[in-house]
Amino acid sequence: MTSSPTIIEVAIPLYLDRTFHYLLPEQLSGQAVSGRRALLPFGRRKLTGYILGAVAESEVTNLKEIIEILDSEPLWTHQEMEFFRWISSYYQHPLGEVIRTALPTGINIQSRKGSVLEAGEMSGGKSVRSEKFYTPVKSVELTKKPSSKALEILSVIKGGAAVSAGELRKRFGVCSAQLKRLLDLGLIRAEDREVYRDPFKNSRVVRDSHRALHTHQKNALEAISSELDKREFSPFLLYGVTGSGKTEVYLQAISHALALKLNALVLVPEIALTPQLTGRFQARFGGGIAILHSGLSDGERYDEWRRIRRGEARIVIGARSAVFAPLANIGIIIVDEEHEASFKQSDGLRYNARDLSLVRGRMEKSVVVLGSATPLVTSIHAAGAGRLRLLELPERVEGRPMPHVDLVATKGAKEAISEKLSAYLAETFKLKQQSIVFLNRRGYATFLVCTDCGKPLSCPNCSVTLTYHRQRGQSLCHYCDYSVPAPGSCPSCSGTTLEEFGTGTEKLEHLLMEMLPTAHILRMDSDTTSGKGSHERLLNRMHDGSSDILVGTQMIAKGHDFPGVTLVGVINAESSLGMPDFRASERTFQLLSQVIGRAGRGEDSGRVVIQASDIEHYAIRAAAEHNAADFYRQELEFRGEAGYPPFTFLAAFAISGLSESAVSEQADITARLLSQIKSNLKVRLEILGPAPSPVYRLRNRFRRQILLKATSRNDLHKLLSVWRQKSALPSSVRIAVDIDPVDMM
Ligand code: ADP
Ligand code: ZN
Repeated sequence: MTSSPTIIEVAIPLYLDRTFHYLLPEQLSGQAVSGRRALLPFGRRKLTGYILGAVAESEVTNLKEIIEILDSEPLWTHQEMEFFRWISSYYQHPLGEVIRTALPTGINIQSRKGSVLEAGEMSGGKSVRSEKFYTPVKSVELTKKPSSKALEILSVIKGGAAVSAGELRKRFGVCSAQLKRLLDLGLIRAEDREVYRDPFKNSRVVRDSHRALHTHQKNALEAISSELDKREFSPFLLYGVTGSGKTEVYLQAISHALALKLNALVLVPEIALTPQLTGRFQARFGGGIAILHSGLSDGERYDEWRRIRRGEARIVIGARSAVFAPLANIGIIIVDEEHEASFKQSDGLRYNARDLSLVRGRMEKSVVVLGSATPLVTSIHAAGAGRLRLLELPERVEGRPMPHVDLVATKGAKEAISEKLSAYLAETFKLKQQSIVFLNRRGYATFLVCTDCGKPLSCPNCSVTLTYHRQRGQSLCHYCDYSVPAPGSCPSCSGTTLEEFGTGTEKLEHLLMEMLPTAHILRMDSDTTSGKGSHERLLNRMHDGSSDILVGTQMIAKGHDFPGVTLVGVINAESSLGMPDFRASERTFQLLSQVIGRAGRGEDSGRVVIQASDIEHYAIRAAAEHNAADFYRQELEFRGEAGYPPFTFLAAFAISGLSESAVSEQADITARLLSQIKSNLKVRLEILGPAPSPVYRLRNRFRRQILLKATSRNDLHKLLSVWRQKSALPSSVRIAVDIDPVDMM
């Protein structure tokens, strides 16, 4: 009797809301297959699918056979698959796409129409790097004598367990002839071994040890440690003002986890992945750390991933995608700067790593620590409701005072830098102390306006004005990078007198140079940090004291610890309040509090000047007065009245396409379908829109949005899953569903 063929279920990384069945060919039967990738015939092409497991039967007749299994080891564990399934269902996203997002890019093979894949490519072979290693062979009769250089090499090989070709090259220079001789004589053996590209290889680290904690730190650590001992899911909010020693708490909590033979996952915003932070972890723990960030090549990333999967790294530090790190036995997950919007992925699978850390933590029975000096309004609310356990570090380390803040009203002011700030800047420079001037807008002038026709220069692809960059001699679109020579002439009437409006960091730098010609001034924004390592170089020049003033965008607001900075100036503090986004006040409060926190972190106390047109706004006032409690109270009141999170749950539909009429038609159809489903299901929620998005044209695409607001998460999900089954899309229009949207533009 022949056994019936094995049917396997695969998920495919395409926007298809289902899984597929295939036959396992006889020659592969009996082989373990789940958790591996398979090469599949799909329509007329071949693509990679993810094997979920075997199924007993299929309703489909004449199933196709899979072509090949691409991995010898499984790529995910049961527990990780449970996590992927949860994500797929919560974010209403196809499972195959979730798996593709979770795996490192170095591993994925694109589907290729009609082309035959090379064997090496299939196994992801080109991503794995190997190197020759030499080992000694025991007791060999010497018939011929090798050269003295070869003998020297032999003694080194005998001295080590296995010595790599690279290491020998470093010591002896070119030595392939000698190695060949030793191999021919049978004195050594060579083999290829896998090596990892080491992103740390150029860094030198000085080891340090735990600091004696102050009382608040000690209390926080004790609370975390005792939960770690229980090995249960336990979520914390570590709310500590800037410079209060949160990182020290993380380090010691991780230490406790490691002692319990548990591993640690640390998520940080991309911007915080500076050598500074990673250096602190290395200094404390030495090796066994894997780092995942966007600066790594696909190969390096894949190497780090494999190290983690094999249990060779016990601490993983990474940006948002590290929430998928294949780390086993996770005792603690830390999300530093939990309020950062960069934890949210803005395209494809629109997940939020901060939220997912809690989901993964629950599944893995881990302690989760969300840390911030300016937590999300929703986190403060969750702490109040007891869903997060609140740990507070209300004071700076060593009792350093929070800086004194002056508010300067700028309504009607001509100068970008107020008299007060100018005076303070001059004084600080004279005292040989450092200053930071923050302005959240890059470029020279915000935009140019033609004095003949009165029209501002704007982007032909996007509904925004072009920013004037004087140094580059361009007017530039910050959304799509479209540029024209500048100042140039008016594209509407060819007028040549263009007036500058508004101030960007480039102009600010210029103004400061005029004001303090002998000061060393640095500018840090995405224009000056595009080169590899430039970010780090600029930061180093602040650290070693060779610069006096740092001018920059929000890039300089966060995380950095510059003990020499005693003055912080903020220009146009209200700029972020004007955003058509219910989080505008929250973002402004967070950004200002973070910038204020850069002042006076060292021996000398700090002061801050905030310039704003409306200095009475509660977000600005609360930040200036270090009165976070007041801000959160007022903001939660507003959220409650307006019906925004944490009091409602949101989903946003973004409808976009090249034809304005097709987009608008599709938006109307979608809204109608949604309200129909709503009344059929009798769910309670609000459907807002369709309305043009705030940036209603972006990279030539017209954009409309629909916002769903529900008081019950369940109702929202019921509606969305029915919509997914019913919606049919014309290919010219894209609809993206964003659960818990962060970007409302
Ligand atoms: P946060 O992460 O809250 O901004 P950090 O952990 O970076 O704060 O701490 C700020 C500074 O204080 C760092 O230079 C850190 O090394 C130092 N520090 C932290 N905890 C202590 C402590 N208990 N004793 C002495 N110095 C400390
Ligand atoms: Zn544009």
